[in-house]
Amino acid sequence: FTNENWTRSDKYHNSFLIAKDPVLDEVVKNCKEQGIPNIALSAAQAKFLHLILKTIGAKNYLEVGTLGGYSAIWAARALPQDGKVITLEINPHHAKVAEENLKLAGLQDKVKVILGPAADSLSKLHPEELFDLAFIDADKVNNLLYFTEAKRLVRPGGIIIVDNVVWDGTVGDPEYSDDNVEGIRKLLHALKDDKEVEATTIATAGEKGFDGFIYALRK
Ligand code: SAM
Repeated sequence: FTNENWTRSDKYHNSFLIAKDPVLDEVVKNCKEQGIPNIALSAAQAKFLHLILKTIGAKNYLEVGTLGGYSAIWAARALPQDGKVITLEINPHHAKVAEENLKLAGLQDKVKVILGPAADSLSKLHPEELFDLAFIDADKVNNLLYFTEAKRLVRPGGIIIVDNVVWDGTVGDPEYSDDNVEGIRKLLHALKDDKEVEATTIATAGEKGFDGFIYALRK
Protein backbone atom coordinates (compact mmCIF):
# COMPACT_ATOMS: atom_id res chain seq x y z
CA PHE A 1 0.00 0.00 0.00
CA THR A 2 2.26 2.78 -1.24
CA ASN A 3 1.34 6.16 -2.52
CA GLU A 4 3.53 8.22 -4.88
CA ASN A 5 2.68 11.48 -3.14
CA TRP A 6 3.77 10.16 0.27
CA THR A 7 6.97 8.71 -1.18
CA ARG A 8 7.81 11.98 -2.92
CA SER A 9 7.18 13.87 0.28
CA ASP A 10 9.51 11.62 2.30
CA LYS A 11 12.18 11.99 -0.40
CA TYR A 12 11.85 15.78 -0.35
CA HIS A 13 12.17 16.07 3.43
CA ASN A 14 14.96 13.50 3.61
CA SER A 15 16.96 15.51 1.08
CA PHE A 16 17.27 18.26 3.72
CA LEU A 17 17.35 16.27 6.93
CA ILE A 18 19.01 12.94 6.31
CA ALA A 19 22.64 13.02 5.25
CA LYS A 20 23.98 10.77 2.50
CA ASP A 21 25.38 7.67 4.12
CA PRO A 22 27.51 5.30 2.02
CA VAL A 23 27.54 2.66 4.77
CA LEU A 24 23.75 2.54 4.99
CA ASP A 25 23.56 2.54 1.16
CA GLU A 26 25.79 -0.52 1.23
CA VAL A 27 23.60 -2.14 3.91
CA VAL A 28 20.45 -1.54 1.86
CA LYS A 29 22.16 -2.89 -1.26
CA ASN A 30 23.30 -6.01 0.58
CA CYS A 31 19.75 -6.61 1.85
CA LYS A 32 18.37 -6.29 -1.66
CA GLU A 33 20.98 -8.60 -3.19
CA GLN A 34 20.32 -11.23 -0.53
CA GLY A 35 16.55 -11.19 -1.00
CA ILE A 36 15.69 -9.51 2.30
CA PRO A 37 12.11 -8.17 2.02
CA ASN A 38 11.70 -4.41 1.79
CA ILE A 39 9.96 -4.07 5.16
CA ALA A 40 12.56 -2.24 7.24
CA LEU A 41 11.82 1.15 8.73
CA SER A 42 12.07 4.05 6.33
CA ALA A 43 15.08 6.33 6.76
CA ALA A 44 12.91 9.02 8.35
CA GLN A 45 11.37 6.56 10.80
CA ALA A 46 14.74 5.04 11.68
CA LYS A 47 16.17 8.49 12.30
CA PHE A 48 13.21 9.26 14.56
CA LEU A 49 14.02 6.15 16.60
CA HIS A 50 17.66 7.27 16.68
CA LEU A 51 16.63 10.72 17.91
CA ILE A 52 14.38 9.34 20.66
CA LEU A 53 17.25 7.16 21.90
CA LYS A 54 19.56 10.18 21.96
CA THR A 55 16.91 12.34 23.63
CA ILE A 56 16.48 9.95 26.54
CA GLY A 57 20.23 9.26 26.78
CA ALA A 58 19.61 5.58 26.14
CA LYS A 59 22.34 3.05 26.83
CA ASN A 60 20.47 -0.22 26.38
CA TYR A 61 18.14 -0.91 23.46
CA LEU A 62 16.03 -4.02 22.86
CA GLU A 63 14.57 -4.90 19.48
CA VAL A 64 12.14 -7.64 18.50
CA GLY A 65 12.51 -8.25 14.74
CA THR A 66 16.00 -7.66 13.29
CA LEU A 67 15.49 -8.31 9.57
CA GLY A 68 18.72 -7.11 7.89
CA GLY A 69 19.76 -4.95 10.84
CA TYR A 70 18.74 -1.59 9.37
CA SER A 71 16.90 -0.26 12.44
CA ALA A 72 19.47 -1.87 14.76
CA ILE A 73 22.24 0.10 13.02
CA TRP A 74 20.40 3.40 13.38
CA ALA A 75 19.69 2.57 17.02
CA ALA A 76 23.24 1.45 17.84
CA ARG A 77 24.62 4.66 16.41
CA ALA A 78 22.55 6.64 18.91
CA LEU A 79 24.04 4.88 21.94
CA PRO A 80 27.23 5.80 23.78
CA GLN A 81 30.45 3.79 23.32
CA ASP A 82 29.47 1.35 26.08
CA GLY A 83 25.85 1.11 24.90
CA LYS A 84 24.31 -2.24 23.99
CA VAL A 85 21.74 -3.45 21.48
CA ILE A 86 20.01 -6.80 21.74
CA THR A 87 17.95 -7.70 18.70
CA LEU A 88 15.87 -10.86 18.25
CA GLU A 89 15.29 -12.66 14.96
CA ILE A 90 13.69 -15.99 14.08
CA ASN A 91 14.91 -16.29 10.49
CA PRO A 92 18.51 -17.59 10.17
CA HIS A 93 19.02 -15.93 6.77
CA HIS A 94 17.87 -12.56 8.09
CA ALA A 95 20.12 -12.95 11.13
CA LYS A 96 23.11 -13.83 8.93
CA VAL A 97 22.59 -10.82 6.67
CA ALA A 98 22.13 -8.61 9.74
CA GLU A 99 25.46 -9.81 11.14
CA GLU A 100 27.13 -8.97 7.82
CA ASN A 101 25.56 -5.54 7.79
CA LEU A 102 26.55 -4.84 11.39
CA LYS A 103 30.14 -5.65 10.44
CA LEU A 104 29.87 -3.33 7.44
CA ALA A 105 28.78 -0.60 9.87
CA GLY A 106 31.51 -1.50 12.39
CA LEU A 107 28.91 -2.21 15.05
CA GLN A 108 29.37 -5.92 15.61
CA ASP A 109 30.66 -5.39 19.17
CA LYS A 110 27.76 -3.19 20.19
CA VAL A 111 24.93 -5.32 18.81
CA LYS A 112 24.00 -8.87 19.72
CA VAL A 113 21.65 -10.70 17.36
CA ILE A 114 19.86 -13.56 19.11
CA LEU A 115 18.51 -16.20 16.73
CA GLY A 116 15.25 -17.97 17.61
CA PRO A 117 11.58 -17.28 18.27
CA ALA A 118 11.42 -13.96 20.12
CA ALA A 119 9.04 -15.41 22.74
CA ASP A 120 11.75 -17.88 23.82
CA SER A 121 14.60 -15.39 23.60
CA LEU A 122 12.70 -12.79 25.62
CA SER A 123 11.85 -15.25 28.39
CA LYS A 124 15.58 -15.97 28.76
CA LEU A 125 16.55 -12.33 29.12
CA HIS A 126 17.34 -11.26 32.67
CA PRO A 127 19.66 -8.30 32.15
CA GLU A 128 21.54 -6.63 34.99
CA GLU A 129 20.54 -3.25 33.61
CA LEU A 130 17.01 -2.82 32.27
CA PHE A 131 16.50 -1.47 28.76
CA ASP A 132 15.80 2.20 28.10
CA LEU A 133 13.72 1.47 25.04
CA ALA A 134 12.17 -1.62 23.47
CA PHE A 135 11.12 -1.62 19.82
CA ILE A 136 8.63 -4.33 18.83
CA ASP A 137 8.64 -4.98 15.09
CA ALA A 138 8.14 -8.70 14.40
CA ASP A 139 5.11 -10.98 13.93
CA LYS A 140 2.01 -9.07 14.99
CA VAL A 141 0.20 -12.13 16.33
CA ASN A 142 2.47 -12.13 19.39
CA ASN A 143 2.38 -8.37 19.99
CA LEU A 144 0.74 -8.65 23.40
CA LEU A 145 3.22 -11.27 24.58
CA TYR A 146 6.16 -9.12 23.37
CA PHE A 147 4.67 -6.05 25.00
CA THR A 148 4.22 -7.87 28.32
CA GLU A 149 7.85 -9.02 28.21
CA ALA A 150 8.97 -5.51 27.22
CA LYS A 151 7.26 -4.11 30.34
CA ARG A 152 9.31 -6.52 32.45
CA LEU A 153 12.52 -5.57 30.65
CA VAL A 154 12.20 -1.78 30.28
CA ARG A 155 13.04 0.55 33.17
CA PRO A 156 10.44 2.84 34.73
CA GLY A 157 10.46 5.97 32.59
CA GLY A 158 11.60 3.95 29.59
CA ILE A 159 9.77 3.61 26.28
CA ILE A 160 8.11 0.78 24.39
CA ILE A 161 7.36 1.31 20.71
CA VAL A 162 5.24 -1.11 18.69
CA ASP A 163 5.40 -0.71 14.93
CA ASN A 164 2.75 -1.32 12.25
CA VAL A 165 -0.32 -0.90 14.42
CA VAL A 166 -2.40 1.03 11.88
CA TRP A 167 -1.78 -1.26 8.92
CA ASP A 168 -3.32 0.82 6.17
CA GLY A 169 -6.27 1.60 8.43
CA THR A 170 -7.38 -2.03 8.55
CA VAL A 171 -6.99 -2.26 12.35
CA GLY A 172 -9.72 0.36 12.78
CA ASP A 173 -11.96 -1.18 10.13
CA PRO A 174 -14.66 -3.28 11.86
CA GLU A 175 -15.31 -5.13 8.57
CA TYR A 176 -11.72 -6.35 8.36
CA SER A 177 -9.98 -9.23 10.10
CA ASP A 178 -6.83 -11.31 9.74
CA ASP A 179 -4.37 -12.81 12.22
CA ASN A 180 -2.03 -9.80 12.20
CA VAL A 181 -4.83 -7.33 12.69
CA GLU A 182 -6.30 -9.43 15.51
CA GLY A 183 -2.87 -9.49 17.18
CA ILE A 184 -2.75 -5.70 17.11
CA ARG A 185 -6.34 -5.41 18.41
CA LYS A 186 -5.56 -7.79 21.27
CA LEU A 187 -2.73 -5.48 22.35
CA LEU A 188 -4.98 -2.42 22.14
CA HIS A 189 -7.65 -4.11 24.27
CA ALA A 190 -5.02 -4.97 26.89
CA LEU A 191 -3.63 -1.43 26.87
CA LYS A 192 -7.04 0.01 27.66
CA ASP A 193 -6.79 -1.18 31.28
CA ASP A 194 -3.01 -1.33 31.59
CA LYS A 195 -1.96 0.79 34.55
CA GLU A 196 1.76 0.17 33.96
CA VAL A 197 2.04 2.27 30.80
CA GLU A 198 0.64 5.40 29.21
CA ALA A 199 0.36 5.09 25.45
CA THR A 200 -0.76 6.69 22.23
CA THR A 201 -0.83 5.71 18.56
CA ILE A 202 0.77 7.96 15.96
CA ALA A 203 -0.35 7.25 12.41
CA THR A 204 2.15 7.92 9.62
CA ALA A 205 2.06 8.18 5.84
CA GLY A 206 5.30 7.94 3.89
CA GLU A 207 7.35 5.81 1.55
CA LYS A 208 6.33 2.72 3.56
CA GLY A 209 2.63 3.47 3.17
CA PHE A 210 -0.09 4.38 5.66
CA ASP A 211 0.74 2.87 9.03
CA GLY A 212 1.65 3.93 12.55
CA PHE A 213 3.19 3.03 15.86
CA ILE A 214 2.24 2.84 19.52
CA TYR A 215 4.46 4.93 21.78
CA ALA A 216 4.19 3.79 25.38
CA LEU A 217 5.82 5.23 28.47
CA ARG A 218 6.68 2.60 31.10
CA LYS A 219 5.50 4.00 34.41
N1 SAM B 1 13.18 -3.79 12.62
C1 SAM B 1 13.59 -4.15 11.26
C2 SAM B 1 14.07 -2.90 10.55
O1 SAM B 1 13.35 -1.89 10.58
O2 SAM B 1 15.16 -2.94 9.97
C3 SAM B 1 12.45 -4.76 10.48
C4 SAM B 1 11.87 -6.01 11.11
S1 SAM B 1 10.79 -6.90 10.01
C5 SAM B 1 9.43 -5.84 9.85
C6 SAM B 1 10.20 -8.20 11.01
C7 SAM B 1 11.22 -9.28 11.36
O3 SAM B 1 10.70 -10.06 12.42
C8 SAM B 1 11.52 -10.24 10.21
O4 SAM B 1 12.91 -10.33 9.98
C9 SAM B 1 10.99 -11.59 10.71
O5 SAM B 1 11.74 -12.71 10.29
C10 SAM B 1 11.08 -11.39 12.21
N2 SAM B 1 10.18 -12.29 12.97
C11 SAM B 1 8.95 -12.74 12.61
N3 SAM B 1 8.45 -13.55 13.54
C12 SAM B 1 9.37 -13.61 14.53
C13 SAM B 1 9.44 -14.30 15.78
N4 SAM B 1 8.45 -15.09 16.18
N5 SAM B 1 10.54 -14.14 16.54
C14 SAM B 1 11.55 -13.33 16.14
N6 SAM B 1 11.54 -12.67 14.96
C15 SAM B 1 10.48 -12.80 14.17
